[in-house]
Amino acid sequence: MRKPLLIICFIFVLLFSFLPIPLNGEDGIYNTFSGFIWCSQPNACIHEAGHKIDHSGGWVSSSPEYQRTIEEMGLSILDDPRENYAALFAFAQGKKENMPEQLHKFYDFELSERLLKWHIQPQ
Ligand SMILES: [Zn+2]
Repeated sequence: MRKPLLIICFIFVLLFSFLPIPLNGEDGIYNTFSGFIWCSQPNACIHEAGHKIDHSGGWVSSSPEYQRTIEEMGLSILDDPRENYAALFAFAQGKKENMPEQLHKFYDFELSERLLKWHIQPQ
């Protein structure tokens, strides 16, 4: 009798571990465990792609060099470095030409192009 319940619990744990599930009405989620992105509008998709790029680079946002650079540029706007990194990426619309040159080396624009092509429909 308990087996089906255990299986259902296991499936829920798996789903919540792997899928980016919006629980608080967010427009986008990045699952750090699975690397999956869910987003409902373009700006949120770019923001979440920023998290994935940060993560794939080994959390670039936490590196002292990145921290120092954005502090010097006055771009350390948010308290959470990961959110700040993704916010700057979204402000630049995920595009290299919109990003200040001093920050180019901290963002993987090849990955960005692939992610944005996948998550954002051409308009
Ligand atoms: Zn975020």
